Amino acid sequence: MDIRKNPYRADFPLLASHPEIAFLDSAATAQRPACVLDAQRRFYETMNANPLRGLYSLSVAATAAIADVRAQVATLIGAPGARDVIFTRNTSESLNLVAKSFSPCVLGPGDEVAITIMEHHSNLIPWQEACRAAGARLVYLYPEKDGTLTDAEIAEKIGPRTKIVSAAHVSNVMGCELPARKLADAAHAVGAVMVVDAAQSVPHLRVNVDELGADFLAFSGHKAMGPMGVGVLWGRHDLLEQMPPMLTGGEMIDSVREQDATWAPVPEKFEAGTQDAAGIYATGAALSYLTETVGLDAVAAREGELVAYAMERLSELGFIDLIGPADAARHHGVISFNVRGVHPHDVASILDASGVCIRAGHHCAQPLLAWLGVENLACCRASLAFYNDKNDVDRLVDGLTQVWGIFHGSD
Ligand code: PMP
Repeated sequence: MDIRKNPYRADFPLLASHPEIAFLDSAATAQRPACVLDAQRRFYETMNANPLRGLYSLSVAATAAIADVRAQVATLIGAPGARDVIFTRNTSESLNLVAKSFSPCVLGPGDEVAITIMEHHSNLIPWQEACRAAGARLVYLYPEKDGTLTDAEIAEKIGPRTKIVSAAHVSNVMGCELPARKLADAAHAVGAVMVVDAAQSVPHLRVNVDELGADFLAFSGHKAMGPMGVGVLWGRHDLLEQMPPMLTGGEMIDSVREQDATWAPVPEKFEAGTQDAAGIYATGAALSYLTETVGLDAVAAREGELVAYAMERLSELGFIDLIGPADAARHHGVISFNVRGVHPHDVASILDASGVCIRAGHHCAQPLLAWLGVENLACCRASLAFYNDKNDVDRLVDGLTQVWGIFHGSD
């Protein structure tokens, strides 16, 4: 895997037509290959009709297209049944659906929900709200400073009061994988359910709900090169059956009378109103591109080399404080850091002037940055995808050298 060559960049119209851009913010949202943009257009040109709302062939084609992507998602995550895959708008909505609809089924006063301090706000605030509503307690698992969650911490925090454990599969700040399986085993041992936030793992790793021990799993299409506005929630069928809908209205009912209604089966019960059918169809094209055209092994191999190269170059600079594991092999695309003595917003703005796109701020993980003691509750994050190359990393390093020169040139 030669990271000096880039066989993928030409597939992405934005990158192909903007050689000046070094896009290092794929953890926030990925770039889209032409095949995804084409698919979105193809939907509107060849099968545009409201799915489920007609018996004519266009509508039937639109309905079938969505069913195909549901099956494709199920295969991608090793889910036993395609109809337990629910389309939402994003990971945030998927996690809210579990917190709002499932929590009341199991959570009561004195019970506990366990999450880690590494969670994105999307996997944190919904649990704050659910615990508040139920009179339950939100318990945090704290890792070592390098992101490692110890067995002792898991054993101490997951106990008889725990009803739900929810954790990221990969941290969007530390970049490392969390021990989802161990967390799931601990959850199941006390009769709790395991929720996995796979927003940062689906684009990089093989994800299998069975191997992870997940009872619910959420991710966003847009981080895996699909259009913005399509998310997934997979859930264990018996749990989905138990849950009331979060949203009500069109297409989610079985029958409606003046004073009450009954619900459609899963997944329609959770999919009120018209969905982004073109977006779902194009998400299917994105997942095909990721898993078939590129292939997850190639993704892992290339991103592994890119991250290793980037971390080596960053460590040579001598003024970078890394956040997360020192071992590059533990980073899945994400490298967070600070330039000593320089506010991350200044770093990002200066890099932007030379076309290098990184993210700076709290990365929707304020409690994590507070716990790590990160100054200003802010850091820089460079996140890599297989469509990056050595040149992108070199440009990041050159830009950071320039930043250091601007702020410390006269030191
Ligand atoms: N969880 C994690 C780990 C994330 O990285 C993100 C996106 N940064 C989210 C949840 C939320 O994803 P979305 O904005 O698509 O809802």
